[in-house]
Amino acid sequence: MDLERRIEGIGRRLYTASIRSVPSIFDRRRWKGKVMEWAIRDEDFKTRLFHFVDLLPSLKDDVMVVKLLKEYFLEVPSPYLLRRGIKGLPESPPFSILTAGLIRRNVRSLARQFIGGEREGEIVDSLENLRKEGYAFSVDILGEAVVSEREADTYMERYLKLLDTLSAVVRGWKGIGLEGSRIPVIHISLKVSSFDPKLDPMDWEGSIERVKARLCPIFEKAKTLSASITFDMEHYYYKDLTIAIFKEMLGEEFKDVPAGIAIQAYLKESRGDLEELIGWARDGRRKIMVRLVKGAYWDYEVAINTQKGWSVPVYTDKAETDLNYEELTRLLLENASYIRPAFATHNIRSISNAIAIAEELGIPEGAMEFQMLYGMAEPIREAVRDLGYTVRIYVPVGEFIPGMAYLIRRLLENTSNESILRRSFVERVPFDVLMAKPSPAFPGKDVSELDEEGFRNEPPVDFSKALHREEMKRALARVREDFGKEYPLYIGEEAVTKEERIISVNPSSPEEVVGAVSKGSTEDAERAVKVARKAWKDWRRVPPEERASYLYEVARLMRKKRFDLMALMVYEVGKTWKEADGEVAEAIDYLEYYGREMVRLSRTEGVKGYPGEANEYLYEPKGVGVVISPWNFPLAIATGMVSAAIVAGNPVIFKPSSLSPVTGWWLVELFRLAGLPHGVLNFLPGDGKEVGEHLTSHPDIDFIAFTGSMEVGLRIIESAGKVRPGQRSVKGVVAEMGGKNAIIVDETADLDEAIKGVVESAFGYQGQKCSACSRVILAGKVEGFTERLKEAIESINIGPPQDPSVFMGPLIDGKAVERVGRYIEMGMEEGTPLVVREVKRDGYFIGPAVFTDTAPDSPLAQEEIFGPVLVILKARDISEAIEMANSTPYALTGGLYSRSPHNIRAVKEGFLVGNLYINRKITGALVGRQPFGGFRMSGVGSKAGGPDYLI
Ligand code: FAD
Repeated sequence: MDLERRIEGIGRRLYTASIRSVPSIFDRRRWKGKVMEWAIRDEDFKTRLFHFVDLLPSLKDDVMVVKLLKEYFLEVPSPYLLRRGIKGLPESPPFSILTAGLIRRNVRSLARQFIGGEREGEIVDSLENLRKEGYAFSVDILGEAVVSEREADTYMERYLKLLDTLSAVVRGWKGIGLEGSRIPVIHISLKVSSFDPKLDPMDWEGSIERVKARLCPIFEKAKTLSASITFDMEHYYYKDLTIAIFKEMLGEEFKDVPAGIAIQAYLKESRGDLEELIGWARDGRRKIMVRLVKGAYWDYEVAINTQKGWSVPVYTDKAETDLNYEELTRLLLENASYIRPAFATHNIRSISNAIAIAEELGIPEGAMEFQMLYGMAEPIREAVRDLGYTVRIYVPVGEFIPGMAYLIRRLLENTSNESILRRSFVERVPFDVLMAKPSPAFPGKDVSELDEEGFRNEPPVDFSKALHREEMKRALARVREDFGKEYPLYIGEEAVTKEERIISVNPSSPEEVVGAVSKGSTEDAERAVKVARKAWKDWRRVPPEERASYLYEVARLMRKKRFDLMALMVYEVGKTWKEADGEVAEAIDYLEYYGREMVRLSRTEGVKGYPGEANEYLYEPKGVGVVISPWNFPLAIATGMVSAAIVAGNPVIFKPSSLSPVTGWWLVELFRLAGLPHGVLNFLPGDGKEVGEHLTSHPDIDFIAFTGSMEVGLRIIESAGKVRPGQRSVKGVVAEMGGKNAIIVDETADLDEAIKGVVESAFGYQGQKCSACSRVILAGKVEGFTERLKEAIESINIGPPQDPSVFMGPLIDGKAVERVGRYIEMGMEEGTPLVVREVKRDGYFIGPAVFTDTAPDSPLAQEEIFGPVLVILKARDISEAIEMANSTPYALTGGLYSRSPHNIRAVKEGFLVGNLYINRKITGALVGRQPFGGFRMSGVGSKAGGPDYLI
């Protein structure tokens, strides 16, 4: 009989046995089934419902529960019955206690559908019940990415305890299938991300070492208790690292511990990975289990990878995933002598295909197993069990808050349009359709091909790829070879070498000279102005498209030199790999974006015609500009300011910061390599007080683009306002100055996200960003935030940033260390230190410091510090939090972590900042997506990377 007919035959048996009943989650006689029905019918309701469910366990206050229930379901169209039920609910105690209790019980019961229990007793009951019904189990402790070392340690300890508990529970159990003889009764599953708060394939060796250190005791115990361990597979970004850790663990010491790993068939790379694993098992004479799944993070992978501009690693046609699943099923079964195949699916077609191939190949029933999730597809699991196969139920256990992500994944999966369970048991799709051989409509099509045209942000480097990690290491070595090199000034076509030089050092090891750059004088500045003015005559007449083409060429050169530029910033200004990478990408974005913007503006039809006349409206270049750029984004900000001026037809005299002149030199060098006419971009590093002030007050300068401190910015604005003899135009100033940015965290916030976001915003690049967070305002009773933040900060790795495990590098120079040190001393006197980490290293290092109990109007909470110092303020409620947030002279960036629609609205309306971010970090604005710039004392309000900037 051919394979398809056999699959159909098996499928019919399974279908007939299972279709008479319905999985409990879809049972409409129960409220859960009813709610799922509503969710399937209405996408908007589904989103709100799942958000509410996700949020509920973290709400401690009953009044809040009722309030949020109304916010979620009364302010938008919701099912009539639900609205009627909710509308009249009183929010005040004692009624709120009753209502909140009821809601909590219901959500808990929804969670219990998919979660085997929170406490030991519940867990044991669930496992014993499963066993009575003839199922094997795999227990997983809920929770994913951890934020601190302590949380990772706790996971390890909980797994150790779980193994002890399970060993007592299974004593005396009769084995199912080969259990007890060839395969262990105790089976656990785990996620590597729970074992290391710093897990990142970028730090490949470090991640492996840290996870291994926590997994070793678990493997040790598994060995003694004869338990089996399976590695779950998480996001694609962690995939190669997870496989590497798995192989490391099964080295010589634990070679015989029965272990397995999940392979996701929705990944295009899955066949290659599986073949490689099979080869590894065969060559090393290991017998491993492979759990074949389709993959639980489909929406995430599509969204995140598209967002980053990376190719989408998953199939985008469900039929392709299904087809691949079937092909990998065959590959596994053909290699069943090295691999124990475990088919983790609820799909009757996928199951039938596995059984049919196994029969064809003569694989005994005990040599493979099926796995299904707790609380899902009960009729199907019964039918498969009744065919005589081992069915293992994956039972997540533990606290509900960390379990919410899992619960939401299950809810999404069950209600998804593509879900086989929804199609089988809710939509009642006919058997023939369900069992049809998967046939992709457009094999190989990639959703990223459907992306928008025109400007696209430059993708970050994907450090999960070994190729890129190696390239970065090579670049770090290459750039080091250039240490100490001399760099000239550029005035017109002349490369000028001066005796006096600016010595740029590596802030991690100040004795290392990154480069010596010729230092310009006022005479050089005079010459540069003359040369630039001369160049203006021709440059302003060059067509905008041609001007833009120089920018595109520089972008191309930057891409080619990307890793070297990153390495240079690691050494010259102390950026970590990721910070440096983000910076090069941003610089490329400015070039690509402003190029297109100029072309767009040149085609503006700004005025209506007037009969009998031909009127034109167009943009003229302004003249000669001075660009004064800071050291904290020595490439990106400089590129933005320089390229905007140039593409708009204005020659530029560019003065980089004296702390990052080598990076500045490279920018100019790339423009020269791109063939930019001489005189259009002049490079003049020099003393701010001397050369800087000479240029900004020069009568032949038409505009100044400045990014830096408020103090210098205001001085430039003042000086530019004075008209000097011979001056021909009113000087324009674009000034981007400081910030004292706040993130508000309310009691509905997702703390995992809030802590990650605050740590990145406050301590990424050592807090030396004008957008950095320096105040956290807790609105209402936010429990657990401060303690977890403290632990997260204590887990930060500080050191020279050429090491990929480092999150915080050095400050820029000794003066910065002194200044930040003074603020820390102030914090010790005025507030209560939550964490003040000391760093004992040579170089300009200073540890992160966080203070509570400081007055909102104290200098610590009001002045820009430009370093890793954070204050935590407390506000009664959201209105007071907004008031506090607005209470500084600055208005640059701000953020909110909240899941309350009411609070989100209030913050959008009331928090006055240039860039407001909700539920994400407040740094890292993207060109063309989040045009960046502040107002009040933060700047003149012109948004870099936005449609108004060139104007
Ligand atoms: P089906 O309805 O047949 O398949 C649904 C799946 O198809 C989706 O989950 C997705 O993977 C894929 N899909 C949906 N839409 C599309 C589309 N447009 N294009 C392409 N593909 C699409 N998942 C993990 O990621 N890691 C794990 O470690 C893991 N462990 C598991 C352990 C067990 C015991 C089980 C049963 C599942 C596990 N899963 C894991 C989850 C598993 O990936 C999902 O349950 C599974 O995707 C549902 O597949 P199905 O065959 O039951 O359902």
